[in-house]
Amino acid sequence: MEKALAKKPAESQYKNKSKGLIIPADNIIKPSKQSDHYVLGNSIRREVHSTTVLPANTQPDRLYSSDNNLEANIFPHLFPDGSGSWSRQKNGQYHKHRLLHLDRRWANDKLYLFFAFDRNMKERILKYPNIPTMSNANRPANVTAKEVSNTKNSYDKYSKVLPATVTGSKAFWRKKWLDLVAMVRQLGPADLFVTLTANDSWKELKTILSQYDNPQSILHPVDTTEYFFKRFNSIKPLLFGSSSVFGKVKDHWYRIEAQNRGALHVHCLIWLESKIESEQLISAQIPTQTDIFSKQLATMVRDFQIHNCRPNRCFRSAKGLATTQCKYGFPYKQRETDGYDEEGMRYEYKRTSINDTRVVPYNPYILYAWNAHIMSNK
Ligand SMILES: [Zn+2]
Repeated sequence: MEKALAKKPAESQYKNKSKGLIIPADNIIKPSKQSDHYVLGNSIRREVHSTTVLPANTQPDRLYSSDNNLEANIFPHLFPDGSGSWSRQKNGQYHKHRLLHLDRRWANDKLYLFFAFDRNMKERILKYPNIPTMSNANRPANVTAKEVSNTKNSYDKYSKVLPATVTGSKAFWRKKWLDLVAMVRQLGPADLFVTLTANDSWKELKTILSQYDNPQSILHPVDTTEYFFKRFNSIKPLLFGSSSVFGKVKDHWYRIEAQNRGALHVHCLIWLESKIESEQLISAQIPTQTDIFSKQLATMVRDFQIHNCRPNRCFRSAKGLATTQCKYGFPYKQRETDGYDEEGMRYEYKRTSINDTRVVPYNPYILYAWNAHIMSNK
């Protein structure tokens, strides 16, 4: 059985018959269309298919993306009775339903996540009637894997034909950029720049992940992401909603990003009706008062808000040259009031104690509610 699966089909076998993207591809990836097909074996995870017994010398089955049982055939362990696969007749909420289902088998299968994402993106692209013709007209008959893996090249070549509704396309980012430029033109520079970072140790997230044998957040991206969004949605009113801690909000803009290891964070720009005057609203000090709130806040500041320099990140200029000073300005000088530094270049916050010189500025209420690293700058 192993032998039959491991046997690599001869490339010539596909040359004339195939019309779409072959998975696995040898070194050739052909134009993808609605008739894409998937071939069992080789690069698709072996254990998924070890139940597919192929008699010696037979070719692997071909599955077409238009097959109504595609998912069940590729992921028999997720669809053991062979039914319930995605089909074009099902609505766009299908994958959301799968991933958020009480039964977590789909959410916790890494390969299924990529498959669902790929399926979703393709469907979104194919909704535009002119896309298949446009992309096929611009594309050489055979695209090599090397060409596609050259990110810059493939991005420039294939991304620009996609509309702005396709997340990550050139048009998508251009639209976002233009939105922001228009806001700055209309409203002037934002009054606040706030960043919120995820915390793997959030008590509520740990409770959610405790249902698994291995509760590491990195192993459960769907639960972790879903929780992050819920927490962010619940804090929005405090940030830029009607009950904003910063006062009356004129407008806001935000963008959610993933760090290299996948941890999510949000960058927000906030425009206010009136400038922030109070030093209480953005602080760069470890609270020293003895009431319960201040004591808890002081622990959070020590846990999340202390900047410890990392050589690779802090001591490199924008051009990649080594520097002797942390490019984020840490440690800051002690000072009694907020204001610009001597050169008038950098806005600095009140830091009265030597312990405050590495504190990243924060808003006490947002930090308390978010319970993870934040950065608030005006
Ligand atoms: Zn640093």
